[in-house]
Amino acid sequence: MVTEVIDTNELHKMDPVFGQMSFDNHEQIVFCNDKDTGLKAIIGIHNTVLGPALGGTRMWNYTSEWEALNDVLRLSRGMTYKSAITGLNLGGGKAVLIGDAKTQKTPELMLKFGEFVHSLGGKYITAEDVGMATSDMDLVRTVTPYVTGISEANGGAGNPSPITAYGVFMGMKAAAKYKFGSDILEDKVVYVQGIGNVGEALVENLSNEGAKVFIADINQERLEEVRDKYNVEIYSGNNIYAEKMDIYAPCALGATINDSTIKQLDAKIIAGAANNQLAEEQKHGTMLRERGIVYAPDFLINAGGIINVYAELENYDRKEIIRKTENIYNTTLEILKKAEADNITTYQAAYNVAQARIDARKNEK
Ligand code: NAD
Repeated sequence: MVTEVIDTNELHKMDPVFGQMSFDNHEQIVFCNDKDTGLKAIIGIHNTVLGPALGGTRMWNYTSEWEALNDVLRLSRGMTYKSAITGLNLGGGKAVLIGDAKTQKTPELMLKFGEFVHSLGGKYITAEDVGMATSDMDLVRTVTPYVTGISEANGGAGNPSPITAYGVFMGMKAAAKYKFGSDILEDKVVYVQGIGNVGEALVENLSNEGAKVFIADINQERLEEVRDKYNVEIYSGNNIYAEKMDIYAPCALGATINDSTIKQLDAKIIAGAANNQLAEEQKHGTMLRERGIVYAPDFLINAGGIINVYAELENYDRKEIIRKTENIYNTTLEILKKAEADNITTYQAAYNVAQARIDARKNEK
């Protein structure tokens, strides 16, 4: 899973919403409640300058409302920059449903959530995220058109995870080109942490290219299944961060790059699918740079999923989805070179390009 590491004891000491540490000039935050279905949701709309705020819905058993609020604030902001740097005419938004997806997600609750999304008149468009399935989006589609990620049978673009993984693979190759002078990953030692929907598809790409892949997950059954399918090795140690590797690919949790892990990391490149990998963007981006570890910004290289769902709004085909996803290679290489030229972190370089696109559009208006 995928929520961020946050000291919840600290959160309640701040002002409830606009004073939260993850609040970053979000345009609108919508709290949704329905007694009958038990729905408790927060929709975060960060920025709509480039277009409607598109981002998935995550259902998670948050330990507190503070944690849920901070998650939606951080994730919706990330979506703004993801779409901006990818060249999509979309703003950033995200929704969180508070509760256990395995036991508390009912059709009635999803429909009620869909009604709330509909009430925003298209300012926020939803999609799937952790705890959601394509079938949930199909259900939401029955009450609102403001949903993507619906099944191919219902005219959607289907499961975005393989495309996300392909984009991460492209970003990883670009980082390898930058760091090693070649983008061929054959024999490179890659640790994939989290072999869920995206992680497994990434393992497939890596294994096809002949990389030496180690997989780590908290789900033992899944580890064995993926190992047998792709002939990769299960990591059996207890501290992945201390292992010597060429590439670390975080595909599970956010905030795995932090004070403690950076000190131990013996990797040359970080490139993975997880959102919000840096616990603190400025601080940890700088620490990585000082250690000579190339960080491929998460919001740039994990944009394949949003490229996939955007096709549903813009009616482009599979070929165009692949073309746009492969372009992540070019953008990543440009950003890594730009960071070096400007003497800034790769995160900052990516952020600057995304923000410049938003500012330019704002000035046109
Ligand atoms: P998923 O829930 O299918 O997979 C996550 C995997 O991580 C699971 O197998 C889980 O057991 C494992 N995991 C959880 N905690 C772990 C830990 N401490 N150590 C090791 N493994 C752990 O999720 P997913 O759809 O594959 O997404 C992975 C990440 O990529 C998430 O952060 C998600 O937000 C991000 N992302 C996904 C997409 C997409 O298209 N699915 C798009 C962009 C970003």
